[in-house]
Amino acid sequence: MTAVACGRLELILGPMFSGKTTEIIRRAHAHQSEGRNVTAIRYTGDTRYSRNSIVSHNNISFPAISVEKDGLFKLAQESKFIADTDVILIDECHFFEELETTIDHLVDVMGKHVVVAGLNGSYLQQNFGEQHKLVCKTDDILHLLAKCKKCDGPANFTKRTVQDSNIVLIGGSDKYEPRCRICLNI
Ligand SMILES: [Zn+2]
Repeated sequence: MTAVACGRLELILGPMFSGKTTEIIRRAHAHQSEGRNVTAIRYTGDTRYSRNSIVSHNNISFPAISVEKDGLFKLAQESKFIADTDVILIDECHFFEELETTIDHLVDVMGKHVVVAGLNGSYLQQNFGEQHKLVCKTDDILHLLAKCKKCDGPANFTKRTVQDSNIVLIGGSDKYEPRCRICLNI
């Protein structure tokens, strides 16, 4: 039996508009240019951009497969192309159920190199998704900051600017702004 390669997990966290998707796309292109098989995964429910690619706010993109919120673990377990992939990148990871279980499987069972990007918290500064559980398991973590919409200072929070109390509310600059702590509640 062939030994499984040692996996690797990299985590990219930050508020909206902090460049998480730009960074995950940069890493995808870098791995691809070094000859590795790369698979990028996006959440199918985010219909702001293309269904067939990850697209950043500044309009750079990388081909991606769209996955339902409950489809991530099944994909990791059953897909032939996942088995054949060297590097797996998951954007907007907060939308996926069974994220921790999936990452455990990909990294520790299958020996994959996995890059995960997601929000550092909800618009209420609470855990949103399972990515906080990955902090103690990751090989590397990059915490990005945005620019505060009010004062142009470093911003670590996502402010919802419309009245809606659902935790999941897909939107862009029409519904959210990056804010620093001082400007968060003004
Ligand atoms: Zn501010």
